Amino acid sequence: MAAHLAAVRRAMADACRASGRAPDAAGLTAVTKTQPPEAVDAILAAGQRVFGENRVQEAQARWTDRRAAWPDLELRLIGPLQTNKAADAVALFDLIETLDRPKLAEALAAAGDKAGRAVRVLVQVNTGAEPQKAGVLPEHADGLVAQARSLGLTVEGLMCIPPADEAPGMHFALLRRLARRNGLDALSMGMSGDFETAIRFGATQVRIGSALFGERKPPDAPSMG
Ligand SMILES: *Cc1c(COP(=O)(O)O)cnc(C)c1O
Repeated sequence: MAAHLAAVRRAMADACRASGRAPDAAGLTAVTKTQPPEAVDAILAAGQRVFGENRVQEAQARWTDRRAAWPDLELRLIGPLQTNKAADAVALFDLIETLDRPKLAEALAAAGDKAGRAVRVLVQVNTGAEPQKAGVLPEHADGLVAQARSLGLTVEGLMCIPPADEAPGMHFALLRRLARRNGLDALSMGMSGDFETAIRFGATQVRIGSALFGERKPPDAPSMG
């Protein structure tokens, strides 16, 4: 695990340097969805502290105790969020990367008010306008950013997952353009297969699972025990 982590960090730093950025200009979110406890504990022991999860309940099970043991963790929600789980998400996560609709902005703002704290978010943009994919359409991104700000959410940046069957560069470029015109700095883009390209297009955070942990088993596959 330590070797995989070091290799990913090295590749990230190389990609930063190759595009004239500081070697630490992009941060690493380790995506722990579906990973067994041993893998999570191993990457914690290797020094990783920023983690991404897709599902609120799965993340609660994996992180509630570990969070108490490791006070410097940063947990990021990178999967779709239902409005009825907004309060749970605000309670567990430091940053919610998947704000993609007005109703969810309202639910997150209400949860933040109730919890008495600021809610940090990224707006997820469906850069490929794929019907099955989460994310606000690019032409509605400015409006959602403005609404979220007016509700008191702390909008830090944008996130995207490019279409699987297209070269990702133009999607990363679009996300960067949308961020700049909204005065946003954070760009969460790039996964195991395309993080070097994402860094070239200005990613400030890449989300990496399989390059660290190996290929995931399908969620419902029986454990090999
Ligand atoms: C699973 C997931 C990742 C990590 O994907 P890998 O290809 O395993 O690196 C990144 N972002 C999101 C939103 C994910 O759901």
